[in-house]
Amino acid sequence: MLATVKGDVHDIGKNIVGVVLRCNNFEVTDLGVMVPGEKIIDKALELGADIVGLSGLITPSLEEMRLVAAEMQRQGLDQPLMIGGATTSPVHTALKIDPEYANGVFWVKDASRAVGVARQLIEPAHRQALQEKTAADFAALRERRSGSSRRQPPVPLADARANRLAIDWDANDLTAPVKPGLHVLEDYPLERLVPYIDWTPFFQTWELAGRYPDILEDEVVGETARSLYRDAREMLDTLIREKWLSARAVFALWPANADGDDVLVYDDEDRGEVRERLCFLRQQRAKAAGRANRCLADYVAPAETGLSDHLGLFAVTAGLGIERKLEEFAAQHDDYRDILLKALADRLAEAFAEHLHQRVRREFWGYAADETLENDELIGEKYRGIRPAPGYPACPDHSEKEKIFRLLDAPGNADMELTSHYSMLPAASVCGYYFAHPDAAYFVLGPVLEDQVEDYAERKERSPDDIRLLLPANLAET
Ligand code: SAH
Repeated sequence: MLATVKGDVHDIGKNIVGVVLRCNNFEVTDLGVMVPGEKIIDKALELGADIVGLSGLITPSLEEMRLVAAEMQRQGLDQPLMIGGATTSPVHTALKIDPEYANGVFWVKDASRAVGVARQLIEPAHRQALQEKTAADFAALRERRSGSSRRQPPVPLADARANRLAIDWDANDLTAPVKPGLHVLEDYPLERLVPYIDWTPFFQTWELAGRYPDILEDEVVGETARSLYRDAREMLDTLIREKWLSARAVFALWPANADGDDVLVYDDEDRGEVRERLCFLRQQRAKAAGRANRCLADYVAPAETGLSDHLGLFAVTAGLGIERKLEEFAAQHDDYRDILLKALADRLAEAFAEHLHQRVRREFWGYAADETLENDELIGEKYRGIRPAPGYPACPDHSEKEKIFRLLDAPGNADMELTSHYSMLPAASVCGYYFAHPDAAYFVLGPVLEDQVEDYAERKERSPDDIRLLLPANLAET
């Protein structure tokens, strides 16, 4: 039995696992997405499932999986528990999930490994052996984590702040938006997005390793990749012609200044009233000389410079209307087309994010009016400015999406919703910030100490416990 946990809407990987298991003669019941823990447990008991598999893509799902494991233990279930999905990891499974459940927790890296693990788990003798080996591996991982690490320990927040990215603020690097304020793009033509599709992640979704277009000629996977690509292009043509999906966007370019590690977005150019305080986290990893402890707020001019800086916010979706087709495919038991359509919708959403970012640079913000870049240069991010997205490495706190959705009225303007755990609906959606400064670059946040957890919680007016759960467990080092 498989389920994507409560609050999470992502299921492409899990659906591939289901297909692969069925092809190998497993009977698979898939409970779908956003499945509450009680339902997972009730169904597992009712069906007498041999194995329970939990999937999730976003960080809050990690905590949800821990809760389900603890409840399985309390209610005395004895099935082995398989864990998979993008934010899951051996470390998180070892530290947080495995200690909650005594009948075996198994982290499965990808769909291709699921069959091997599942086969062992349904043979009592093999299950016993695998369970013992996995338990020992997890115990060793826990041991290693608690021991002194060879890495330099993270630095206190005050030291990290003293080593912030020191931008030499110059009015010449700041451009006031040509078309400031909020903009809505309704029913955006999908054919305009096609040239912006980055196909490499499409093949990764199907666990085919290699870069597009070389992958099409690859000795090992080339033939499979070509046939998949042919099917994808064909469905893409059809879905555009028959309007299976519609795309919408809302974005805004507003006056903003940094306030410490936060960015204040103002109502208007008078900068008297604060529309919202956006909160960011700062790197605390010990840095080599000359390397800053970065925070996204460093890319916006601090209020005390007296400079008039700006920040952009955006939310785009390409998945509106997808349900109707998915229901049709489900009725036909057509898993392949179900997965293909979801994967294409995800690609179109990312392509929309890329395309809109380009229009913003050239036309709406206008700081790069003359930019002319080819598709591969766009994918390689060879332009000025970045569009970090909450939940990604520079800003892993998904809950900041709430502010973006509220400020942009993404539900009203683009028909997008947030789930209880900050997943976006439709699943094929992206939201984030536009930073325009020439020095703005993506980075990985890395470990965060308790001092920052508490400081950040206070700025966000939430409890430190909430914050700890919003950050992946492998970051929260103490
Ligand atoms: N071209 C790729 C982009 C994938 S990354 C694709 O089509 O799939 C998806 C999004 O994550 C980017 O568009 C950007 O908004 C954001 N992002 C990438 N790296 C990031 C980082 N280090 N921190 C925050 N956001 C990031």
